[in-house]
Amino acid sequence: MEIRDRYAPSPTGNQHIGGVRTALFNYLFAKSKGGKFILRLEDTDRTRFDEAFVQNLYDTFNWLNIHWDEGPDIGGPSSPYVQSERFELYKKAAEELIAKGKAYRCFCSSERLDNIRAEREASGSSETGYDRHCRSVSAEESGRRAAAGESFVIRLNIPLEESTKFHDHILGDIEWKNADVNPDPVLLKSDGFPTYHLANVVDDHLMNISHVLRAQEWIPSTPLHVIMYRAFGWTPPEYCHLPMVMGQDGKKLSKRHGATSIDEFRKAGYLPEALINYVALLGASYEEGKEIYTLEELAERFSLDKLNKAPAIFDYKKLEWYNGQYIRMMTDEALAEAALPYAVKAALFGSSGAAAVPSAEQKKTFIAAMPLIRERISFLHEAPEKLAYLFSEPPVPAAEEFIPKKADLARTAELLSLGRGLIEPMAVLNDADAEAYIKSWCEEHDIKLGDIMMPLRVAITRARVSPPLFGSIRILGAKQSLERIDAALGTLRAALETSKETR
Ligand code: GLU
Ligand code: ZN
Repeated sequence: MEIRDRYAPSPTGNQHIGGVRTALFNYLFAKSKGGKFILRLEDTDRTRFDEAFVQNLYDTFNWLNIHWDEGPDIGGPSSPYVQSERFELYKKAAEELIAKGKAYRCFCSSERLDNIRAEREASGSSETGYDRHCRSVSAEESGRRAAAGESFVIRLNIPLEESTKFHDHILGDIEWKNADVNPDPVLLKSDGFPTYHLANVVDDHLMNISHVLRAQEWIPSTPLHVIMYRAFGWTPPEYCHLPMVMGQDGKKLSKRHGATSIDEFRKAGYLPEALINYVALLGASYEEGKEIYTLEELAERFSLDKLNKAPAIFDYKKLEWYNGQYIRMMTDEALAEAALPYAVKAALFGSSGAAAVPSAEQKKTFIAAMPLIRERISFLHEAPEKLAYLFSEPPVPAAEEFIPKKADLARTAELLSLGRGLIEPMAVLNDADAEAYIKSWCEEHDIKLGDIMMPLRVAITRARVSPPLFGSIRILGAKQSLERIDAALGTLRAALETSKETR
């Protein structure tokens, strides 16, 4: 049997963690079995539909680099993959059930249904849902009234005396008494629109879906779906309801916990690979001790048996850790490429418009600077702030900022001008050689490494805490480095004068 599964979102909102997790597990399952992953748009709820949500869906999965084998944008053997273009099929299916005696027309007015509700409320009855009133309308009368143009919905005729069993890959055997299933739900509305249940079941059947992997919140719909498969005489797919994704407090993940829409993560500088890696671990475990997986590695290892029964807890800190890990694994070029849009947005290369686009020279500098920050950022948007000092000269800080531990202003100025003499040779050395050079110079002159590093660091990067000094000197080059040191020496000497005068 060919494995075919699907992601079937309703475009009534932007893509969020829960949806992407469902899509990813379907993708991985299909790939792990050499099967097909299908995208189907369940857009029957036209009041909440927005084309922008469809675009967001495409943008999100494009960014994540997850692609379906069949779908609305690329077509396939079960086209169309958009429910609003399949209404004829649902109508035909509903009529087929009427012919089989498994569904019936309900002519009840909305006033009648409102009255039942009101009466039940008044009498304190616990009964809910439709009272099955129109079940007793004869086939002959039903046909006559429909032909005469009377408005109706089509309802499923649920056999009350039976119960419905199905197997869920994670939850095991599940059995519901049919009497406990929502009484005779509507399949087709009076305007010809299908309900979710009808469209979902008809499409899964017509699209030959072998496995339904969806969130556990859909469990209450499943008995109803299985009853429908039986009514049609079709074989239901295999079910696997995925554990819910919760926040740290054990409540369903929502905005209260932090970002949930993929757009927010994307804007915050998350890498798609990090997000995929982390989301793939939400409710699944693959290999003991291994935490970093490419999409291909996940597809090789995925199996339904590796899914957990317990809800998954979404840990923002862990996702942040993953992002840092993926940043560390990127080459200079790839990291620069990914961080560049954030740098442009932060006006690292120039204020705005055409000036914000880096020149060839600036781009080279940006790429060369990646080793300075790779270990120091968890998010791409942190890059421009950390590297600003390489692209424009920050003001010289106050003289006190330069002073290393236990030194005074005069000694600091002296240390800095000694350090000045080391710049030319160090500007052409790699990190290890520059370090060895300055260390042996310190030993020779009986000066503590930290004492010379601090004034140099503040002079070059203009901050006490900064990316590595040697790389900064190398990237700025000897000339610029010396200019910065001279400006700093000017500040230190001026401060020294003032302190002498006031003494
Ligand atoms: N359209 C439903 C949703 O928005 C699909 C549920 C299912 O996978 O059956 O999640
Ligand atoms: Zn009725």
